[in-house]
Amino acid sequence: MNAITNGARRVRTRVAPSPTGDPHVGTAYVALANYAFAKRHGGDFLLRIEDTDRARSTPESEIAILEALRWTGLSWDEGPDVGGAHGPYRQSERSGIYTEHVARLLANGHAFRCFCTAERLDIMREAQRAAQQPPRYDGLCLSVTVEASQTRADAGESFVVRMKVPHSGACIVRDMNREPIAFAWETVDMQVLLKSDGFPTYHLANVVDDHLMGITHVIRGEEWTSSAPKHLLLYEYFGWEAPQLMHLPLLRNPDKSKLSKRKNPTGILFYRAMGYLPEALLNFLALFMTSTPAGQSEVFSLEELVATRFGLEHIALGGPVFDVPKLDWLNGQYLHHMTPATLQTRVAEWAFAPERIEKMLALAAQRVERLSDLGPLLGFFFAGRVTVDAAALTSAKVDTETARKALWIAMTILEGALVFDRAAVDAALKRSALVLDAKFKDLARTFYVALTGSPTSVPLFDAMEILGRDICRERFRVALDALGSVTAKEQKEWQKLATVPVPVA
Ligand code: GLU
Repeated sequence: MNAITNGARRVRTRVAPSPTGDPHVGTAYVALANYAFAKRHGGDFLLRIEDTDRARSTPESEIAILEALRWTGLSWDEGPDVGGAHGPYRQSERSGIYTEHVARLLANGHAFRCFCTAERLDIMREAQRAAQQPPRYDGLCLSVTVEASQTRADAGESFVVRMKVPHSGACIVRDMNREPIAFAWETVDMQVLLKSDGFPTYHLANVVDDHLMGITHVIRGEEWTSSAPKHLLLYEYFGWEAPQLMHLPLLRNPDKSKLSKRKNPTGILFYRAMGYLPEALLNFLALFMTSTPAGQSEVFSLEELVATRFGLEHIALGGPVFDVPKLDWLNGQYLHHMTPATLQTRVAEWAFAPERIEKMLALAAQRVERLSDLGPLLGFFFAGRVTVDAAALTSAKVDTETARKALWIAMTILEGALVFDRAAVDAALKRSALVLDAKFKDLARTFYVALTGSPTSVPLFDAMEILGRDICRERFRVALDALGSVTAKEQKEWQKLATVPVPVA
């Protein structure tokens, strides 16, 4: 085993997803790097749920993230589902720990209460914008004395706690894979650590937990690089040794823009629903953290990755492209080399989960006279994308423009639905008819063709719940492309329609 340790400590890494949306392939990529690094060095890999954003975190998202990561084939030594000696592993269950630590910072003078109202902060930011200064807290409440601060808090006045930041000098951020970066302290905000509702912000909770959970190496997306100075300062304030940092380049679309679901499906569960194999997906992501010399196969297992292939030094910083044709090729390699018996098992696992089949059959039973009718009726459940005939998306009552708007608006409303179920689908599709002043009955054909490939089929709302958000999004996207892709200007206009408050029919 390599002797990479931080001091003499056992290597411990973590992935710390926020349960605020669908499980993202970027999370699997970060998790894989942390897993491989920890296992390569004989250490532990943890999973922590960062649900401090109470408005956006949902239990459904947490369940989906755990399920999706488990599906990839990764496992963790400690986490909310498997337990461990450093729990709880869900930040919403650690409130007391954070308030205790904030009290410590207040007592040592490293943090201060800020009583500024939202209105005052708005005016301050507006003035900064007008003066072309970066938005940053101006420090007004630094002048409140410790005694006055306590008295006001005791009297029940609302406040947040902010960290103090040096006035001058710079923070040097050392990344395991890059040249050191200097951040001038005057550009670093006096970050809120504790919100007025008593919940910590990401920055405080992340640092406290990484320390208490014994994390030695933090490997995360590069969007967090600019947060590193705040984190390093907090470690210093607490008198703790900071973990080593490594910021991974973000996954990119083929045009090099940041990977986004508008251009490329980004949900782990989309790839599962499309029939990609988890080992192929992991292998694909692993190519971003290995180098494959000529003559060596690009097809390798997770065990091989850990044992011989992985190296942080192989991570190309230039922005890895999520190249779906490459993933297709890799997936094909796995399928081509499977024994018939294994293939049979894998197909059964993918397509014939009893619960899913039962739901499909319940929709179809009253519509068939022979079992052989089931194939054509239910085939769309097993297809990834359906073949869409653009002409069939419109009708005498629905012209191309209305069809495009209806599809886009329904897709956008569903994007924002907290839970993707029959009720959400029902509301979204009917609402898109309502805002377009169209009859749902007339639009139904457009939706049917886009989602099932045929103008009639089993009940649509139930079918969409079974298909799931990722596959539905992709089918909406394909249908929209068939009708002519949506321009940025149209998106802006239609966005207003998608968010206009109307009573749901
Ligand atoms: N909760 C953060 C996220 O969702 C974790 C960032 C980190 O690893 O520090 O990406």
